[in-house]
Amino acid sequence: MKKILQDLSFSELENLIALLGEKKFRAKQLYTGLTQGKKISEINVSPSLREKLLEDYENNSVEIIKTLASSDGTEKYLFRLADGNLVEGVFMSYKYGNTQCVSTQVGCRMGCKFCASTLGGLVRNLTSGEILSQVLAVNALHGGTSEKRAVTNIVLMGSGEPLDNYSETVKFLKNVSAEGGINISARNISLSTCGLVPKIYKLADEGLPVNLTISLHQITDEGRARTMPVAKKYGIAEILKACEYYFKKTGRRYIFEYSLIAGENCDKEHAEGLVKLLKGLPCHVNLIRLNEVKERGLQTITEKQAYLFLGMLEKGGLSATLRRSMGNDIGGACGQLRAGYLSNN
Ligand code: SAH
Repeated sequence: MKKILQDLSFSELENLIALLGEKKFRAKQLYTGLTQGKKISEINVSPSLREKLLEDYENNSVEIIKTLASSDGTEKYLFRLADGNLVEGVFMSYKYGNTQCVSTQVGCRMGCKFCASTLGGLVRNLTSGEILSQVLAVNALHGGTSEKRAVTNIVLMGSGEPLDNYSETVKFLKNVSAEGGINISARNISLSTCGLVPKIYKLADEGLPVNLTISLHQITDEGRARTMPVAKKYGIAEILKACEYYFKKTGRRYIFEYSLIAGENCDKEHAEGLVKLLKGLPCHVNLIRLNEVKERGLQTITEKQAYLFLGMLEKGGLSATLRRSMGNDIGGACGQLRAGYLSNN
């Protein structure tokens, strides 16, 4: 595979342009074109520069090859990377704006038992430019520009563990929030992790005030280890300490994701355990009913049961919400679009 031009920050692009012996203003032209989601071949620069660039760089880093649109405005995409690998993403419309869910890895090696992304293990990390290109492509698809963005918020909740691809993820966060580019504020970005503790500390020290989201899904380490192998390495107490540090450094309240799995984590004792664990902390709990992945054999609970669980958390004094399940009519849990495509093609 050739290199990815969207990996470069504006100043890195300026250096490249100087190195190629081109005039300085070409950097701005190129950067604007890339931000508009264009292929190199579509950007209005001299044919000789285009040719030089195409020798070393992929013309199209990320291509949307399939779109599923739901009646509620949610869209799911299958992206093809330049080497043929596939990742998926989701676009969700809310009152306050539009959130795009991006992938950071092809596959994942964390092995969570409920998740489809991890079924084939980790294939490879995405580069920062491949992560960015997902945003640029979807923003362009919806007629957005960098002045009037169609994508206003980003969640790193597609396939992959963002902190397992740390340097490319951080570079993406810097480039996507940079002035002059698509410039989406770090405050509008949420990074979700299964809890790689040392990397949470590292992220806290980056000076990037992104929202930190932790996939908790259980109240004890033993219980957590049943579905999340990473729990054997990092305990809940260590995670909470790292969150406290994150809060101290960034001033950002943190969020716990809790996917409701029947017979596993949503009885009264679990609600009480969560209250005990999290009460008084500057955090919020996001409940979501498990998206059933057929290869996984785990089941979700009814909406009514989920609201009962939510009620117990609220009664205990936690700030919590049950996330609306979006795009139900287009179906498919996280990672299933890719899995389905791979088995049918
Ligand atoms: N690796 C990161 C981000 C990717 S997954 C992480 O672990 O946080 C984004 C969220 O979806 C995580 O909270 C993850 O635990 C959850 N998730 C994965 N598969 C799911 C499923 N089938 N149903 C409900 N939530 C799921």
